Amino acid sequence: MNLVLLGPPGAGKGTQAKLLEDSRSLVKLSTGDMLRAAVAAGTELGRKAGDIMERGQLVPDDLVIGLIAERMDKDGGGHGFILDGFPRTIAQAEALDRLLKERGKKLDMVIAMEVDDDGLVARVAGRFACAFCGEGYHDIYKPPKVEGVCDRCSSAGFLRRQDDNEEVVRSRLEAYHAQTEPLIDYYTRQDKVRTVDGMADIATVQKEIGRALDGEGRKGAKNGAKTPG
Ligand SMILES: [Zn+2]
Repeated sequence: MNLVLLGPPGAGKGTQAKLLEDSRSLVKLSTGDMLRAAVAAGTELGRKAGDIMERGQLVPDDLVIGLIAERMDKDGGGHGFILDGFPRTIAQAEALDRLLKERGKKLDMVIAMEVDDDGLVARVAGRFACAFCGEGYHDIYKPPKVEGVCDRCSSAGFLRRQDDNEEVVRSRLEAYHAQTEPLIDYYTRQDKVRTVDGMADIATVQKEIGRALDGEGRKGAKNGAKTPG
């Protein structure tokens, strides 16, 4: 079973990909992880990617595709793979189809994690963590039991990631809607899309994805899924 997880940053793709890796023995191919690993390993592709990232530029498609091909050839056997963070554009989706075809493989399913923008902004923008033990918190959903004191280690220092603010999250969502949503149409034409509610809690999303994989999920993209407001 070869899968793509689609959804905006903050929808929980990485978390769900990890759960699938553990529960279904699929190989998780996260382009972010792969790029970092290739740079750390100093492979030819890694050196090229490292140079480009150092200049603050986007790593070109052919390089990312090369990395995916390398990983697929190395450990693409077994039960299949989950792509997280790729493809993001139609051009990348077409390149992925070619790459798979060359290897006698195909994409079996695309899981689209639907989110509502305001809800996602609230979720991501409220995140912070203990500076000492790393315990994760949220302004609304999971504040410390005693304000300003970590539940786990009782320290009083907290950190907020700089890019977890409303402005950054909104601009990432805009990029996602413009670039990645056409992919849903692309894969709907191939009859591969299953939608899950990305705003549900982690366990519920995991269950919905499990049902989709077992052939019981909602088929196709939901139309007009925008939340009012
Ligand atoms: Zn702590």
